[in-house]
Amino acid sequence: MSEWLHVLVPTPAHAGLGPVLTYRSKEVLAAGTLVRVPLGKRETLGVVWQSDAAEATGEMQPDKVRDIAGVIDTIAPLNDQWQQLIRFSAQYYQRALGEVALAALPPQLRELSPEQMLRRRQRSLRAAEKKAKSPAQGKVTAAPLAPVLSSEQSQVLGDIESQAGPFLLFGATGSGKTEVYLQCVQTLLERDPLAQALVMVPEINLTPQLESRFRERFAPLYGEHAVVSLHSGMTNPQRLNAWLAAHEGHARIVLGTRMAIFASMPHLQLIVVDEEHDPSYKSGEGARYSARDLALYRGKLEDAKVILGSATPSLESWYQSRPSAEGGRYVRLHMPSRIGSETQALPLIRRVDMNHQPRKAVFSIPLLEAIKERVLRGEQCMVFLNRRGYAPVLHCADCGWKSECPHCSAFRVFHKIDRSLRCHHCGFTERVPRACPTCGNLDISPIGQGTEQIEEHLAALLADIRRPGTQSPQFPEGEPVRVARIDADSTRLKGSLQIQLAAVHAGDVDVLVGTQMIAKGHDFRRITLVAAVNPDGALFSSDFRAPERLFSLLMQAAGRAGRDASLGHNSEVWIQTFQPAHPLYAALKQYDYPAFAQSQLNDRAQAGMPPFSFQALVRADARSQDTAQAFLNAASANAQTDMVAWPGWEDALQDITLYPAVPMRIQRVANVERAQMLVESPSRSALQRFLNGWQSVLHATRKQDECKGLIRWAIDVDPLAI
Ligand code: ADP
Ligand code: ZN
Ligand code: ZN
Repeated sequence: MSEWLHVLVPTPAHAGLGPVLTYRSKEVLAAGTLVRVPLGKRETLGVVWQSDAAEATGEMQPDKVRDIAGVIDTIAPLNDQWQQLIRFSAQYYQRALGEVALAALPPQLRELSPEQMLRRRQRSLRAAEKKAKSPAQGKVTAAPLAPVLSSEQSQVLGDIESQAGPFLLFGATGSGKTEVYLQCVQTLLERDPLAQALVMVPEINLTPQLESRFRERFAPLYGEHAVVSLHSGMTNPQRLNAWLAAHEGHARIVLGTRMAIFASMPHLQLIVVDEEHDPSYKSGEGARYSARDLALYRGKLEDAKVILGSATPSLESWYQSRPSAEGGRYVRLHMPSRIGSETQALPLIRRVDMNHQPRKAVFSIPLLEAIKERVLRGEQCMVFLNRRGYAPVLHCADCGWKSECPHCSAFRVFHKIDRSLRCHHCGFTERVPRACPTCGNLDISPIGQGTEQIEEHLAALLADIRRPGTQSPQFPEGEPVRVARIDADSTRLKGSLQIQLAAVHAGDVDVLVGTQMIAKGHDFRRITLVAAVNPDGALFSSDFRAPERLFSLLMQAAGRAGRDASLGHNSEVWIQTFQPAHPLYAALKQYDYPAFAQSQLNDRAQAGMPPFSFQALVRADARSQDTAQAFLNAASANAQTDMVAWPGWEDALQDITLYPAVPMRIQRVANVERAQMLVESPSRSALQRFLNGWQSVLHATRKQDECKGLIRWAIDVDPLAI
């Protein structure tokens, strides 16, 4: 006897294979069972699939069907909800089912044979038994006391308890949002002995901090194994163990980055998305999913509560949380006050009008004075600029040569530290030439500033003042001021970020220079002044989300200042700008996110931008820009000529706008030309329906003559940057 099985295998969207493959098996296997199957000449992990009509592969040739190679029966089948989440993600983000399903599983699972898996399971079982016998276990440690809630926190917790949500927790930095998450999780775990909670943060760097808070609170109650993390900074065995703990229900709390949204959690009842506005919830490759949006879908699917938290929500979430009478679908909860707000007033925001400062000054005179004053008092300052390296361009004044990348339509960045010119797009790196490569002029000079230069410049400007000492025995009184830099360059080595952060916490640094990396989440206690040196760029960006991102970045940066009650009373945020009257800065000065959001939403409504419309981008890569654009324009033309003829499609197409193909902002990277095309609709479902139908048209278009030389194409649904 043998059975036909549908199996998902890791094939990309364009491999030409059907969405599911058919294999033969000796026994009936439940959907969601993990199996090993032959695929071409190799063997791979597969997931047994319950195909619906649309997914079922067309004709099957019985003589070509192969046997499965094995069943991983040490792992229970993935449940219906997990399968449904995968099905939805693949369909919504326009990728192959198999690709999405297999990418959602821990990498090591893909490599181990059933026998290897069995041995691993036995080993970890023995280890667990040994631990259980050891005397240290079984000792009941008292759970640390949760703080007495503020009235805002109590109110919010009551609302979450009594309503279905989803919730948008709009709370100032330091208003105690994390404490709200902790207590929601606690209430849930106490009520239901099986329940599981998923808590997501945008960055790996923020997981240790979060993990220690959750571990401290819950390990004494539910054991060390109750809390696990899932993120790409873990080793493959660590990830597999954490994944299994979640899948088997031992892990009651899963903390992770965006990938954690696909964790198999059979008793999931609560999903928290902290800093929900953060762009890193959106994946930039493969299925370009938004973990925040999938959290809302998964919440509905599993009947789990969803809490999105932010001090500066995404405009999409803000709009969704308008009053329900106006069509809002999320419950907006507000915590405006910082914990201990009598002493913890928000920092004063000061704008420096750079029009009245010496030309080309990087630091205005009053800002420099303010930094000196703070440092002399033993306080710390944070200076941030969103551009790493020493200078964005090197330039020859004689002949006009600039440090262009030969492989990209971008300049290579000058890094003084190792005297290199580095392309931040393709990675191409060369030593800085001694003289201008075109005219031989010895005097080539940097234009503009990056963090390296700010660090050097500031150290020179502060060279004549001495530290007051006392905070750190390593740097006694009278030492020069210490300026340090944290950005992607300074933290390339594993563990180096932790070391550098520790130095800041220990007080060994007086002025910290960095990119947005330092603006997010870190709890620096002694910083009382934060300065944005040159943030104006985002005000005039072609990216319509740039102001939103700038506002949230500056609010977050402001959240870094004055976290220590004993220093916090006179903390400040300085903004150097040529546009001091710009409404964005005016709203920022008042910490008035709602006003800012309203003005942005008005603009967006007028321009018909998201959240008032829905977008997808098709991107095409080719050897020539013409080919990339030709493919997109042909696919668009084909949609308009072919699809209208499909029964029932004429009306559907009316709601779709296809824009002409254009080069991407950085149009050439690593010698590949890139183009994109925007697809827009006032209706999410119309857009979805169109994209689903258009897939076959895109595949067919690729075969047209003018599209020879096309390297690849991909669809990005709900793109963050257009
Ligand atoms: P957020 O996540 O909104 O930035 P946190 O939850 O991290 O805020 O809280 C900020 C600080 O206040 C933390 O040090 C936290 O331990 C403390 N905190 C939170 N809630 C309370 C409370 N009810 N009473 C005392 N301290 C609190
Ligand atoms: Zn020259
Ligand atoms: Zn390059």
